[in-house]
Amino acid sequence: MSLNSYRKLGKSWTFIKQLCEVTCEFLYELKFINRHYFLTLMLINRAYRYELDPNNSQRSSLSQHAGVARFTYNWGLEQRIARYKNKQGDERFTDTMKQNKLLNSLKKSQFSWMYETSKCAPQEALRNLHRAFKNFYRGLNSGKKIGFPRFKRRGVRDSFRLYGTIRFHERAIQLPRIGKIRIKEKRKCYYSGRILSVTVRRRANRWFVSVTVEDETPDPKPVRGVPVGVDLGVKTLAILSDGTTFANPRAMGRRLRKLRQLSKSLSRKQKGSKNRERAKLRLTKMYLKVFNIRQDTLHKVTTYLAKSHSKVVIEDLCVSGMMRNRRLARVIADVGFYEFRRQIEYRCGWYGSELVVVSRTFPSSRMCSQCGHRKKELSLSEREYKCEQCGFEIDRDLNAALNLVAVSLPETENACGEEVRLLADSLNLQRAASMKQEPNIIPDSMSRNV
Ligand SMILES: [Zn+2]
Repeated sequence: MSLNSYRKLGKSWTFIKQLCEVTCEFLYELKFINRHYFLTLMLINRAYRYELDPNNSQRSSLSQHAGVARFTYNWGLEQRIARYKNKQGDERFTDTMKQNKLLNSLKKSQFSWMYETSKCAPQEALRNLHRAFKNFYRGLNSGKKIGFPRFKRRGVRDSFRLYGTIRFHERAIQLPRIGKIRIKEKRKCYYSGRILSVTVRRRANRWFVSVTVEDETPDPKPVRGVPVGVDLGVKTLAILSDGTTFANPRAMGRRLRKLRQLSKSLSRKQKGSKNRERAKLRLTKMYLKVFNIRQDTLHKVTTYLAKSHSKVVIEDLCVSGMMRNRRLARVIADVGFYEFRRQIEYRCGWYGSELVVVSRTFPSSRMCSQCGHRKKELSLSEREYKCEQCGFEIDRDLNAALNLVAVSLPETENACGEEVRLLADSLNLQRAASMKQEPNIIPDSMSRNV
């Protein structure tokens, strides 16, 4: 079959699909069928995050749980290291199941205080430890630098995970062993799906829960909207090929002086004093603020991109390589490129837009978006792109965004001529796995029987 007949077939197929959709809508309107009759469902994992408002006894119970989780993690890590040093052959290694058994036998004699908390907290801590080791070995095999699991410290990233009977009440959440805790939320808690587990974290003396649910949602309809190229940067967070820009909030950059001042004041306080504790809290509060501002911006930008464009084209940035540049490391970390990539990947899956990741070797900045001429060199200080061949002048980042969107378009729509077309063929454009959670697509008729 020739390419043309494939296209014709493709066109008629979309026409049939559209026709079916219209018929279904019509039958639904007439109340003949159920809304999801014709739609396929996908299974996604989602997390809902709330801030807790615990009373004093709940507060101590929460920190007790976090303490047990930390203790178990450190105990497990110590045991693994000791085993590795002392035992021979296969005896050297252990896993979560074996460690859990050993811990349960020790609970009766040595760790009887663990009975005051839920059994999930230590179990999940051992599971986390196992994951940390797995990541470490994966790093060794693939040549990536992933550190050896470290011991946890009191008050640093305190958290624990629970599962079992977790229920939402109006403005409260029920946790196993701890009970009903109020939530700092004005409206009623909303969630849909089946609750899998809950992770409780302490940040700057505030407690947060994130509830993981497994939810079935209808397969998203493809988003209508023009394809867009996105160039990420430091001066402006993102510039789109249609000219829209998103300002970089410089969450940390703007607060550097304050952070420096706070950490200096912390280092001057006497160890173990109340004053030191207070200074520490002030500093962690500032860091939490920085984190929140960065997350908020990234969530807004990625939601806008995924909801209003049929195709989002981004460059496959080598973030760890960029971080090796000592002068740029801080500003790059401040933008959160990696987090941007993570969010855009799952959002595109949710809302039904296509994510295209263009290979690292594609010269998006050096190429002219008008004639396809490629410069040999382009320094970072040149903010304006001037083409030597056709004399075209354009903002450097906008030029890159235009090149990105052009390279992803099929041949017929490509206005940039031979050059880009050849490039697009030769480069391997990864059709990114836009659905990070790998949603299982199950037809509705099957899922309803379950
Ligand atoms: Zn040119």
